[in-house]
Amino acid sequence: MSDIAANLLTINDAMYTAVKKTGRTMGDIKLIGVTKTVTPERIVQLLAAGVNCFGENRVQEFLPKHECLQHHMPTWHFIGHLQRNKVKFIIDKVAMIHSIDNMALALEVDKRASMAGIVMDILVEINIAGEDSKHGLDPSQALPFVQELTGLSNIRVKGLMCIAPFVKEPEDNRPYFKKMHKLLLDINQNNTHNHCLTELSMGMSGDYTVAIEEGATMVRIGTALVG
Ligand SMILES: *Cc1c(COP(=O)(O)O)cnc(C)c1O
Repeated sequence: MSDIAANLLTINDAMYTAVKKTGRTMGDIKLIGVTKTVTPERIVQLLAAGVNCFGENRVQEFLPKHECLQHHMPTWHFIGHLQRNKVKFIIDKVAMIHSIDNMALALEVDKRASMAGIVMDILVEINIAGEDSKHGLDPSQALPFVQELTGLSNIRVKGLMCIAPFVKEPEDNRPYFKKMHKLLLDINQNNTHNHCLTELSMGMSGDYTVAIEEGATMVRIGTALVG
């Protein structure tokens, strides 16, 4: 068994235990293998182990990998900070953009999606712990921002994303994941737009089980999977 396959077994076990506690099933959680700095050869090993959804956070790094792995037909999610002038390069290559946190970027995604004849699924990034070093909206801005996005017909807002603080103890992030879940529920209760947000992209290698216990529907796992 490859190291990746062994890692995946461990992760799936831990995910299963966490998912059970929430009364959901494994089918309710999407594992995104984060492949930044991971070579295409290693990504092929991930595919062989059964992971076919990958997250990348830099456009320059993503494009050659996308090209090289195209015939494997993986699904790509863009999870990192995105500059407006790079949107055009990824718009027809990713299934979801997790990092929408300002109107200018949203407008560019909407415009490029329209030109490509698609509707792009997006998540709104929240700076849940108010860290200076992180992108994302203040939680108080989330509802008005989501409502503003409703007017853009080539964007579909699926939910919220956060990058929790880097902590030693995963339990330390539980309050932030709880806050994210509550924010999602609040938005769904108070918004006047017509569809429900269902996705919570939160939890990384150090804290994905806690995130799942608190309602994550997508976990973004890099180091625990590929070393
Ligand atoms: C790198 C990265 C991850 C994965 O982090 P690990 O701790 O290696 O699992 C998840 N999300 C984003 C946005 C990242 O940049």
